[in-house]
Amino acid sequence: MRETELIRAIDTLARTTMHSPQVLTGIGDDCAVVRPRPGEDLVFTTDLTIEDRHFTRATHTAADVGYKGLARSLSDLAAVGAEPLFCLVSLAIPAGSAQWVKAFYRGLTSLAKQFDMALAGGDLARADKVTVDVMCCGRVHRNKALLRSGARPGDSLYVTGELGGSALGFEQKRGKTWARHKRPVPRVAAGRELVGLASACIDISDGLSLDLHRLCEMSGVGAAVTSIPVWPGASIEQALHGGEDYELLFTAPHRRIVPSRIASVPVTRIGEVTAHTGTITYGGNSLEPSGFDHFR
Ligand SMILES: [Mg+2]
Repeated sequence: MRETELIRAIDTLARTTMHSPQVLTGIGDDCAVVRPRPGEDLVFTTDLTIEDRHFTRATHTAADVGYKGLARSLSDLAAVGAEPLFCLVSLAIPAGSAQWVKAFYRGLTSLAKQFDMALAGGDLARADKVTVDVMCCGRVHRNKALLRSGARPGDSLYVTGELGGSALGFEQKRGKTWARHKRPVPRVAAGRELVGLASACIDISDGLSLDLHRLCEMSGVGAAVTSIPVWPGASIEQALHGGEDYELLFTAPHRRIVPSRIASVPVTRIGEVTAHTGTITYGGNSLEPSGFDHFR
């Protein structure tokens, strides 16, 4: 298959995602043309997914990789409470991967359609290993984006869902937990409902311990975690440090009423924010940030 044919196939898939009246033109032009509405802020995020680093071709199908590449970026949109608008996808692949590329885009666009998000452009190049970069843009009401920096001492600390399922799935490589690892569901609807409710928010991509440290650092606070919801069968270590759960960790003022389910996802109070800057404890003991750090 020639590159022009491949691009035509991608273009056909991309056109099936073009629902938003704000995305005026997508693939086929030199740039995507997107029109912001008055009173909104646009938010942007980008995530790399690299063969033998984030996935292997032996364990992940092309459609899995396309799905997860977008899911990782969508989880960042969820963390700021944004509504997804469009994505740009750059893909580098070894020669002779045309079928793989088409399946990759099918996996990616299947998820994009679930969130009414357009695949509005991207780039294709050759490389020895599959390298994916998914840039996502979303929108929020002006000045309403949820940030990591809004937590205050006395706030309550919450998580959506259960933690440790992704790490357990990666270990077992079968069943429901393996799907949890390969096809995480980004908490976009929950994130949007947290706008006006949460004081700070972050998605748990690298493990609760590490992402909680990041939130506390940006807010200049500490945290005392008392108990956490653990995925059935997962260890407490997997729940604290495992990563890739793509749940939301958020804070809310003590007096604010936080429902036990948000957008059909269970929400659990796991502790509280303290004034002890940088000190994070679990059950009274120091909780070190031992989640996934790419540069350690
Ligand atoms: Mg994130």
